[in-house]
Amino acid sequence: MRQTILTYQGSEFNKDKLIVDIARLKSDISDIAHKKVLFKIYLCESDEPLIEDISLVLDSYYPEAEYVGLTTNSNIVLGKLEDSSITFVCNIFEDGDTDVKVFQYELTDTTQDSIVDDFTGKVEENPWINFIEMFENVRDMSITHFCDKISHISEEIDMVGAGAFDRDLNYDRIYVFSKGFKPSTTTVAFVCYGGKNLHTKYAHISGWKAFGKQLLINKSYNNIIYEIDGKPAYETYRRYLKIKNDDYFYNNVIEFPLLCRYNGVTVPRVPAECMEDGSLLLASDVVEGTYARLAYGDPQTIMQTIKKSIASFDDFIPETISMYNCASRRFYWGDDEIDNETVNFNDIAPTTGFYTSGEFVSINGKFTHHNVTLIVVGMREGERDESKKKDIIFENIHFDENKISMVRRLANYINEAFFELELANNKLKEIAITDGLTKVFYRREIQRRIEEAVKADTKCSVALIMMDIDNFKKVNDTYGHKVGDNVLIKLSEIMKDTVKENFLDASVGRWGGEEFMILLPDTDKDSAINTAELIRRRFNAVEFEDVGKISVSCGVALRHEHETTDDLCIRVDKFLYDAKASGKNCVKYLD
Ligand code: GH3
Ligand code: MG
Ligand code: MG
Repeated sequence: MRQTILTYQGSEFNKDKLIVDIARLKSDISDIAHKKVLFKIYLCESDEPLIEDISLVLDSYYPEAEYVGLTTNSNIVLGKLEDSSITFVCNIFEDGDTDVKVFQYELTDTTQDSIVDDFTGKVEENPWINFIEMFENVRDMSITHFCDKISHISEEIDMVGAGAFDRDLNYDRIYVFSKGFKPSTTTVAFVCYGGKNLHTKYAHISGWKAFGKQLLINKSYNNIIYEIDGKPAYETYRRYLKIKNDDYFYNNVIEFPLLCRYNGVTVPRVPAECMEDGSLLLASDVVEGTYARLAYGDPQTIMQTIKKSIASFDDFIPETISMYNCASRRFYWGDDEIDNETVNFNDIAPTTGFYTSGEFVSINGKFTHHNVTLIVVGMREGERDESKKKDIIFENIHFDENKISMVRRLANYINEAFFELELANNKLKEIAITDGLTKVFYRREIQRRIEEAVKADTKCSVALIMMDIDNFKKVNDTYGHKVGDNVLIKLSEIMKDTVKENFLDASVGRWGGEEFMILLPDTDKDSAINTAELIRRRFNAVEFEDVGKISVSCGVALRHEHETTDDLCIRVDKFLYDAKASGKNCVKYLD
């Protein structure tokens, strides 16, 4: 493939100039027999008349070319930031088998499901498609649901994407347009690539690293987080990082975005603003009930991550590189330094792209919406040609590669210390709820679990089994307390093993001296009775040294509708009493 870049500073651009440049471009590539041409048009300066002019020129002077364009926060041309340019990246695919097609839709809350259905149909009709780029500019709807819906496509086909933006972050007249589709401010375009000789490699690069404890996003709606760990969300930034809610809030939090877990994927999110009630306003959604951790960005760690990625793209030997970089990274580095991230890619292949409002990428088949991320796409027609591999000099990376930054060392210390604390905490928690002798739950814990199960029970599927060893006093009196203890341990093992074989969520607890309670939170009458029977038989089959056989009596109760925890416990206790009264070593159940 070949690439030609036409770039105009805003005021320089006019229709006639574009007509001349298009004519020259066409003549330059007239030697190529089979070609497919795709223009990607990135507009730092953007309004409807300008886009209409561009569409008119391309439709009239290059009708066989495909094109897609959008408003950007700023452009990346030959690896460098261009703040006010109108850039046409013309990709010329030379392999007869390569194809490119653009599909665009009006995207709103109400159309999103039908778009996914229609586009899925298009992908099925065009089995040559093996790579998709998505460009969108929606502002007033949650894009998470749309990404989830489209994920079934990205299970089969690699996908990346980027959000349109403006230099003024609050300006919402931002456009996406393509051939045959008028500029729209609520739209999504899919650029589909394919062909057996077209190879793509893509990566999403962050460089920000997680540190500290896990946080629960326990209250959020769309792009607002109300509460983290049960407190106003801003508390996380105030308390742990001493970030004030002042004019510099965004400048400070950009160094510490949240890494949220969603669909098994880690997605970075930066709070853009802190509201009066302590809620945080973000550029993208955060799903309620998900977990997050704080992340830190330090220049050296970020650049080390980038350098690693450059090496892997160099190895792919692409002919072109597209780059969609988050505008917040530009903000983080500042305009003087941001090119350090991007410029070395241009040593591998001509690198063009833009600064976005959001990045999209398929990871393990899930199409997810990112922030603070750099998306890189390398493309090549034909096999790798080792002789074309470039030596990258990294003139702009001024640090000792083997040296770890102090921030990273401190973050590592925090993470390790947290890990150790968490282990110790978990151990303490376990000790606090487990009976030392029998290793089943203490009465308080099994009682708490019964209450929880009863509260959640909607279909009368909570069962209790209560057991008491028969004539245990005699065992103690005859053979001593130690022997008695071993009997208790053995019965506990049998109870735990038996329920583990049949239930995922059963709990066993010590109710009193040699009385035990088993909670089966989701079962039926027969399974509960059978489980009790099995335990009774298994225990009675054990030959204790000197003592011989010992038996146990069991009561079984399945919760009635509206029955309280206390009433259920009283009932099962009564059935246990019935078992004792009817000769012991048996199971009693009554409806
Ligand atoms: P029944 O068949 O009616 O249940 O008769 P029983 O002899 O088992 O009577 P009871 O339930 O009153 O006896 C409980 C005995 O359990 C009394 C106590 O010494 C013994 N016990 C309670 N906790 C422990 C313990 O931790 N270890 C030992 N070895 N014995 C215990
Ligand atoms: Mg007893
Ligand atoms: Mg007893």
